[in-house]
Amino acid sequence: MFNAKAYSVASATSPFEPTTIQRRDPTPHDVQIEILFCGICHSDLHAARSEWSGMPTVYPCVPGHEIVGRVTKVGSAVTRFKTGDLAGVGCLVDSDGTCPECQTHHEQFCPSAVFTYNAPDKHTGKVTYGGYSDSVVVDERFVLRVPSNLDLAGAAPLLCAGITTWSPMRRQGVTQGKKVGVVGLGGLGHMGVKFARALGAHTVVFTTSPAKKEDALRLGAHEVVVSRNANEMAKHAGSFDFILDAVSAEHDVNAYLHLLRRDGNLTLVGAPEKPHPISAFGLIFGNKSLSGSLIGGIRETQEMLDFCGEHGITADVEVIPMQKVDEAYERLLKSDVKYRFSIDMASLKAE
Ligand code: NAP
Ligand code: ZN
Repeated sequence: MFNAKAYSVASATSPFEPTTIQRRDPTPHDVQIEILFCGICHSDLHAARSEWSGMPTVYPCVPGHEIVGRVTKVGSAVTRFKTGDLAGVGCLVDSDGTCPECQTHHEQFCPSAVFTYNAPDKHTGKVTYGGYSDSVVVDERFVLRVPSNLDLAGAAPLLCAGITTWSPMRRQGVTQGKKVGVVGLGGLGHMGVKFARALGAHTVVFTTSPAKKEDALRLGAHEVVVSRNANEMAKHAGSFDFILDAVSAEHDVNAYLHLLRRDGNLTLVGAPEKPHPISAFGLIFGNKSLSGSLIGGIRETQEMLDFCGEHGITADVEVIPMQKVDEAYERLLKSDVKYRFSIDMASLKAE
């Protein structure tokens, strides 16, 4: 074991404080990574404040699952990484590798999947600790290659916001000639816009923030709809092939079902605690479907990163020091981030 610097919360209402955590020495299959940047996902906030009753948080909690860094050590059996390589870690750090989900590259649904933080850690007997830290040790099967041409602060959010929006878009066949909506221009939403555009779709952003209109166009949207304006919404009735809903809070999903064309699909990736009331008629009339999507598998995550490397795609980030994480959470709640916070871990090392 060795000591790592980290920031943790002690309860659902505590501010972040500096702490020291124990990381395992790399086993033969492990990669040790010096963390350079870690994105702040809204899921970090949901978890730090224990907002999901189905997944109560074990404290102290060190969030962070959008990790980019450099390999500092590898176990004796590691073949895919060497010291000095760039490396990424997302929401998953382990799975059994043998079940039908793992065999079909859906490790996120493995019954033994281990999430990057707040999950039982078989190595320490405690819970896993995430990327708000100066280092992490991860089985090489869950370490991703980060294209070297990408800005690292902006690449970190690809490990969650990127794959979570990429995966359903690929599954639903987003391509040229399709009309695609993205609801909520936050960390996930702005990646959704970049991907929908890069995949060739006619891309429409739905936002509650009129001030984000210009940004939405700059990010790649062809059109922007202020969702609180009923007239603007009505113009798009029955016209979308696919809508990705990346909203973190309670809102009316039925209004978006109404905008789907026949056989259209609305996929929820946003995860507010309160259930959505869904109109059966909103689905029945038009053979519409409503889906959910959880991050993505490891192979698919690598495909997404490689696509980003080829197309020069990263998140638009506001780089912050670790010490500003509480302030960042408050701003996240006000939808006041363009469009992802990325923590510069040099600030933690300097403490
Ligand atoms: P975020 O950056 O805070 O963005 C959420 C966006 O939702 C905001 O920017 C805002 O966009 C919109 N919004 C916020 N409150 C709203 C309200 N009351 N009514 C309507 N719209 C509202 O969050 P994020 O990091 O992108 O995460 C979004 C959600 O996805 C979270 O619930 C997170 O836990 C979840 N998530 C799910 C997965 C998965 O695997 N399914 C993975 C990662 C995250 P506008 O200002 O444009 O309206
Ligand atoms: Zn996330």
